[in-house]
Amino acid sequence: MDERKSTLREKLNRKKTTPKKVLVVLAALIGIVFVVLRGAYVSGDEMEKQLQQNLQDVAKQNAEILYARIGAQYKLLTSLAKELDDVTEDTIEAKLEHFEIFMDDFHLKRFAFCFPGGMTYSTDGGVEDLSYREFYKRGMEGAASITGILTDALTVDDTQVNVITVPVYGGDGKVSGVFGLAYDTMAFNESLQIESFGGKGYSCIISEDGEIMAQVGEDKFKLSQNIFDDVLKEDERNEEVIVQLQEILEQEKEGSGVLYLAEKSYYYCVPVNLMDGNVHWYILTVIPDEVLVSRMRPIQINQYETSLLVGILIAVGAMFMLFVVQDNNKELMRYAYVDPLTQAANSMKFCTDMEIREKREGYLIMMGITNFSNINIVAGEDATDLMIQETWKIISSSLQKDELAGHVRDDLFLLFFTDTKEQDMLERMENISAKIKEKARVLRVYGIGAEYGVYQIAEDESIESAYSKVRIAKDFAEKKAETPYAFYSEIDRAKAQHEKHLEERFPRALAQEEFEVWYQPKYSAQDCTVVGSEALVRWRRYNGEMISPGEFIPLFERNGMIMKLDEYMFRSVCRQQKRWLEEGKKIYPVSINISRATLYGEGVEQRYAQIMEEVGIQPEYIQLEVTETVIQGHSNVNKILKRFRDMGIKILMDDFGTGASSLATLSTQCFDILKLDKSLIDHIGNKDGETLLYYIIKMGQQMGLYITAEGVEKEEQFAFLHNMKCDDIQGYYFSRPLPKTEYETMLENNE
Ligand code: C2E
Ligand code: CA
Ligand code: CA
Repeated sequence: MDERKSTLREKLNRKKTTPKKVLVVLAALIGIVFVVLRGAYVSGDEMEKQLQQNLQDVAKQNAEILYARIGAQYKLLTSLAKELDDVTEDTIEAKLEHFEIFMDDFHLKRFAFCFPGGMTYSTDGGVEDLSYREFYKRGMEGAASITGILTDALTVDDTQVNVITVPVYGGDGKVSGVFGLAYDTMAFNESLQIESFGGKGYSCIISEDGEIMAQVGEDKFKLSQNIFDDVLKEDERNEEVIVQLQEILEQEKEGSGVLYLAEKSYYYCVPVNLMDGNVHWYILTVIPDEVLVSRMRPIQINQYETSLLVGILIAVGAMFMLFVVQDNNKELMRYAYVDPLTQAANSMKFCTDMEIREKREGYLIMMGITNFSNINIVAGEDATDLMIQETWKIISSSLQKDELAGHVRDDLFLLFFTDTKEQDMLERMENISAKIKEKARVLRVYGIGAEYGVYQIAEDESIESAYSKVRIAKDFAEKKAETPYAFYSEIDRAKAQHEKHLEERFPRALAQEEFEVWYQPKYSAQDCTVVGSEALVRWRRYNGEMISPGEFIPLFERNGMIMKLDEYMFRSVCRQQKRWLEEGKKIYPVSINISRATLYGEGVEQRYAQIMEEVGIQPEYIQLEVTETVIQGHSNVNKILKRFRDMGIKILMDDFGTGASSLATLSTQCFDILKLDKSLIDHIGNKDGETLLYYIIKMGQQMGLYITAEGVEKEEQFAFLHNMKCDDIQGYYFSRPLPKTEYETMLENNE
């Protein structure tokens, strides 16, 4: 122990600085300040250019949302309309009831159907003559339409709605009614709220004749007003703007300029083509000039402030250092060891104190605040700082003689308790948690608590080693549901080690071809012949042990190794298909899984195309399975998928019906085949589940998608899917995934 102390003292002594060094440091600091100030300088011109670019981006982003939202509703309407070709007043209500499952996903208020003559039935039970409505008249003439904002005729609550309608054709090819949906204008409006320029920018949707259909951001525009007559005419300076904008609307083009809404503002206007080109709406995004000015100001002020601050810092720093150099360097150490927000020891100080203390038996604890980020979200940054300070007070006042604590950063604290009984230590932690909860309650933030990683430190263990263990324990405590604390000793070390082992083993396993492709055949739901298969990876270890993908795919997805594995599987399947072809065998399309990480990787489509070219395999024999989350998470993915499809590779939407699946995805046109997940198939036999499945399949089919059902295990599931005219079946009912040779045998018998 003495030895440790003396080496530390040596370290401290070595920190002594000479005045010469101080001068060098000063010169360096001045240089840095100069460079920083130059770098921070942004010219007004550049700023304006950047702002205008942002404006355009926001407008286009809004346009995309509008296009997707209305597009999805329109497609839904046209596909469901086909179900209404022979509907009568007796059957209409039952039909409409079935459609209700779509209302949430598509944010709808209702569906309604108008019979010739105008009598209208709706999903919320209303029956009303709407023959006076324009959409009814246009619908009966065979035209689709979207209305401006209407006062809802089917409820008494005066809500505002927009109505989209399409004509319905009877068996004789004549219009037999008008089918429509209504969305709540306000709800639609809210769904559009893309914040721009820190809430200072605003947008609106306008129709061809200038009516405001929705507005985003500050209340400058009012629903139902006319942009020309009610908004722009208010200010004389807009005379030219009106001409410009009218020209933009007439010619259906993009445009930008300056307009005046009390204050000078910039605008950008983009057209959005809706409903097969039947309707042209526009997004107008506006930002006040003041934003530009106010953005410039802080930068300028910032420049002054920064230089002033840095100047002061240099002076203080120089004095401080001189003082330190002359006096004692213990002060310097203190300065480097204190957390400025809490005045607590920082982790360096904590560890040093631990290092030099005589007795070390006890519990090393890392504490974090549960749902810490909520405080910032709910109560703001100041409250967050306050919470950290209060937490430190709670912790430091709970310390007993000879115990230590420190503040690592944010909500992370280190504690060292000398209790000898576990129960005592746990009680003290509970006590701290209760006080923290109470403080959070005062700040009106709920769901706050504390979580602890605990490590019983060994006497002769280095502090670094103990520190890394307590961190692992803390991470584990976060995931653990049963108690707010976790002991390092309880963590399943074997599991962590196993994963580490798999990671380390991966490169060699790949090189030594330990990964095998297994094939799970897909069968036609109509004549039960094999029509293709899915490639599934299996890891056969050198010792013969088989590892299932569930054990390593999630791990490899986390660490990025999946890219290599996916590519390996892709190449293996391409080669195998080619080999079968050369052997004169009949081959079927094989679908290969491609993970999110792989798809997001740079140039994946070129690499896959190159592999296919090298092997010499036609794209119709290769398909790719992607999950729905892939499409939701990344705007570029649509383009990547499109490039694959342009190459002739079919894309399957995997696991549809799990987690965040949305019926709206069916209309994205990013894929060719819909794979219904096992969880949906398991619902066969229950009425609601079957209804849902019925409409998913119907809608998928009407969108031109091919439907594959996955995880089919039972006769009755197969029968239902057969009756529904589902295309393919994959599941244990027909076959489990098979090793290559067994798959070959099965194919031979199939012929
Ligand atoms: P997945 O893509 O949804 O694959 C279907 C899984 O369901 C397979 O599990 C298959 O064996 C299983 N399955 C098929 N029919 C039935 C059935 O009737 N009943 C039941 N209970 N299960 C059935 P497996 O092979 O264990 O694969 C699990 C997951 O691992 C796959 O789910 C996929 O997400 C991933 N995976 C497998 N191979 C690869 C690969 O090469 N690359 C990537 N990125 N992921 C892969
Ligand atoms: Ca799959
Ligand atoms: Ca699947």
